[in-house]
Amino acid sequence: MVDYDVIIVGAGPAGSTTAKILAEEKFNVLLLEEHNNIGLPQHCSGWISGCEYTDELIKTIPQRLIIQKVKGWRVWSPKGKKICEFEDFGFGGYFVDRVNFDRELAKQAAKKGAKIKVASKVIDITTEGSISKGVIIKSKEGSEEITADVIIGADGVRSFLSGVAKKSGLSELERKKREFFPGIQIEFINIADIDPGIIEIFFGFDFDKNFGMAFLSPLEENLALIGFGNYRDYLKIKKDHPVLSKRLKDADEIRYLGGMYCSRFGEPLKTCVKNNVALIGDAAGYHGIIPACISGHYVSTVTKDVLAKEDFSFLLAYDKKRRKSSLKDARMAIDIRSLNDEKLENFLQAGGKDATYMMLELISKLKL
Ligand SMILES: Cc1cc2nc3c(=O)[nH]c(=O)nc-3n(C[C@H](O)[C@H](O)[C@H](O)COP(=O)(O)OP(=O)(O)OC[C@H]3O[C@@H](n4cnc5c(N)ncnc54)[C@H](O)[C@@H]3O)c2cc1C
Repeated sequence: MVDYDVIIVGAGPAGSTTAKILAEEKFNVLLLEEHNNIGLPQHCSGWISGCEYTDELIKTIPQRLIIQKVKGWRVWSPKGKKICEFEDFGFGGYFVDRVNFDRELAKQAAKKGAKIKVASKVIDITTEGSISKGVIIKSKEGSEEITADVIIGADGVRSFLSGVAKKSGLSELERKKREFFPGIQIEFINIADIDPGIIEIFFGFDFDKNFGMAFLSPLEENLALIGFGNYRDYLKIKKDHPVLSKRLKDADEIRYLGGMYCSRFGEPLKTCVKNNVALIGDAAGYHGIIPACISGHYVSTVTKDVLAKEDFSFLLAYDKKRRKSSLKDARMAIDIRSLNDEKLENFLQAGGKDATYMMLELISKLKL
């Protein structure tokens, strides 16, 4: 007799979404979170990209968590030319209070009957042959094994990478170091010319090799978070960028949010399923809050079949769907990465708003 039908490791957007759906279906679900407080440390600026899924999700969370609706976009070329400024067409979505957004999703899962354990870090997987029996958690009470029929890793970019997967005979799920790359966001006060509600994108591979852009999330007048590839990219931008260097001149840094992305756009992970273990969200190489939630829906649908028919092979359907949805990322990445700054400059200058619209549309096309 196992303790739970499903153990979900990690109470981020992916884990809590999955826990809510499966608990709603009356499965016996345990959601494990290593930190004392769900939502902390804060992961990002809380920009939730706009799509039909977001429109529905936003109705389920308290209004106080919505900081602002995105009103429009301002786009800059690598040489610092303002390419366009336009009203949002639905891609922009919202800025939410990310810490309490994560807490809210976990609360929704608990209200549907999921059991949540915080301060419970998963430190190993136990196996019987090639099937995973459960996980070992370390909490204030010590270490214990908890068993389940299905184990879902929603534990973010670092997931089972640090040896756990390999040690437990699940080496297919182990990722190599090169599949990780950094990202930082810095919150600035007294930054010039911020328009609340207007997201700004500063394109340029010379300044940011990984993303080819710096992404400005406006929080209030004079207050914004800017995402850079890494700290060195930020220093380069601060010193030499034709537009941002001037706007940052009198700005003070007041907060750093750091983190990693796993797998680049265009390089989807080979597999995220091994028998009764599946990875979702960032752990599976998705990018962003809304894709993490949507991956929770994908995996929940097949997990219901796995449990009802006692056949793990149904999880493979999730992996297939994941790979298919990653192809969209791949196409976009291949298109964009084939450009250098000179080509990007020409592309943006010639295409203007239409070129930008096309790129944003690609980003926000993930659907349920
Ligand atoms: C600098 C930066 C800026 C970003 N900005 C944005 C943005 O503006 N908009 C956007 O959509 N996305 C953004 N992202 C990406 C976004 O933060 C992630 O895609 C999103 O958090 C993924 O959700 P998740 O549920 O998969 O994982 P996470 O949110 O990472 O949640 C994983 C959870 O698992 C827990 N956990 C990990 N290991 C264990 C363990 N062993 N045992 C128990 N619990 C464990 C963690 O504590 C965490 O709570 C940004 C990322 C970075 C790095």
